Amino acid sequence: AKKAGRNNYQIYTQELNEALTERVTMEYRLRLAIENGELLLHYQPKVDFATGLISGAEALIRWQTPEGELIPPVKFIHIAEETGLIESIGEWVLIEACKKAKELKEKMGRPIPIAVNVSPRQFKQPNLAQTIKNTLELTNLDPDCLELEITESTLIDDAAKFIQTLHALKTIGIKLAIDDFGTGYSSLAYLKDFPIDRLKIDKAFVSNLENDPANTAILKAIIVLGQSLGMKVIAEGVETRFQHDYLQSIGCDELQGYYFSKPIPAIEFEALLQNQLSK
Ligand code: C2E
Ligand code: CA
Ligand code: CA
Ligand code: CA
Repeated sequence: AKKAGRNNYQIYTQELNEALTERVTMEYRLRLAIENGELLLHYQPKVDFATGLISGAEALIRWQTPEGELIPPVKFIHIAEETGLIESIGEWVLIEACKKAKELKEKMGRPIPIAVNVSPRQFKQPNLAQTIKNTLELTNLDPDCLELEITESTLIDDAAKFIQTLHALKTIGIKLAIDDFGTGYSSLAYLKDFPIDRLKIDKAFVSNLENDPANTAILKAIIVLGQSLGMKVIAEGVETRFQHDYLQSIGCDELQGYYFSKPIPAIEFEALLQNQLSK
């Protein structure tokens, strides 16, 4: 038993070392990627059910390596979060998205609000509101053309502070959304205290629609809840005609998902908008 225990220990430390090495390597590569400008944003349209028109987009980060590999955020955002690199990445995302929103408004002659994901660590930065004000000034963007997507899990340790930060952000005039709604720490008790413009229903409820009818009850409840609190409700991860039609029939305000478009490079997003103009 003693021998087996020792072996287990060796296996354990070896795995731990490998995990650690991978993490340190990734952190190092990510630092270089930031310096070398290898990060970019893709944009996924949000579509208004009532008009069928694009109402805005979500900015989603990608890492394009010099070798041509496109690394998705699941591979590096958590490392950025753990190491604090997320703070500089977050600032870059914010500037890039605001520049794009400014450019789009000028080109299209109407506001095309861009939503940016804010990680828990970024949300807790004491100077977040100031950083956002500075970025809006720098890019000369109207505040209502910027939206922040915040996940429910961000509020876990300090709800009072969370609400205070939301109000500080709201004062600037930007839009706020709760992302992945329905999966996190239940915020039902707090929802009425949130100065929130949009609820984003997590894609898990949408993707299981066909095989788990119980989700219809949840979807309907979230839509009624959000709308009665004066919020717009958007469903993400909409992939099929069935999901689209069902969500429309129960009064969902907006949709986002492969059914309409994947996240795409800025130039393709612009083409989609132009195409809509000419119709
Ligand atoms: P999220 O904010 O919940 O973003 C939605 C994810 O669902 C995106 O994955 C998007 O590409 C994907 N998606 C969109 N439509 C569909 C669909 O119809 N079906 C399916 N199966 N998936 C769909 P992505 O781009 O890989 O991003 C993953 C997560 O990474 C995001 O989840 C967000 O939490 C994080 N992330 C992305 N960009 C940023 C960023 O700039 N900053 C921070 N802090 N986090 C980011
Ligand atoms: Ca999001
Ligand atoms: Ca989401
Ligand atoms: Ca998510």
